[in-house]
Amino acid sequence: MAKILNKREVLTVPNPAAAYQKEDPFADFREVEMLELHWEQTYHHSLGKYSKFFLELEKKRFLATKCPKCGKVWTPPRPVCPHDLQVTKWVELSGEGTLEGYSICEFAPAFVSSEKPYVLAYVALDGADTLFCHQLRHFGDRSNIKTGMRVRVAYAEGEVAHPIRLMYFEPV
Ligand SMILES: [Zn+2]
Repeated sequence: MAKILNKREVLTVPNPAAAYQKEDPFADFREVEMLELHWEQTYHHSLGKYSKFFLELEKKRFLATKCPKCGKVWTPPRPVCPHDLQVTKWVELSGEGTLEGYSICEFAPAFVSSEKPYVLAYVALDGADTLFCHQLRHFGDRSNIKTGMRVRVAYAEGEVAHPIRLMYFEPV
């Protein structure tokens, strides 16, 4: 008999409707074979009109876009102002701002390091009209995190898997 290399286990799945179903019409189909498959995929992903934002992060510059009509400053950048449908212009911000809200997560998303807790910060950057959401790091004890505190964009050293990981927030 051939051996299935990727077989993990064979389960018997209970009938989820057992409480109100006299007979299980799928009784002969409750044995489920589980395989472990490895899927690796390489693909080319365009950052499109947002590319400049990420290219400038590599140079440790934080850009937003400004509407030539209403003057609103968008961050994350928008190529077109949603109010006026005007093509915006790039502007550089200092990267400093105020923490407006945050979530402390007891897990780290799969795409980042295992740093816990993982703190997601909503920051009103100086000169911007919108909030920017990103990870807050280097806050010490979690009791130090308070809305209204001053934070700044910090830039990652070394290699990152995606250009959005070139930056994060930290207390000023
Ligand atoms: Zn506008």
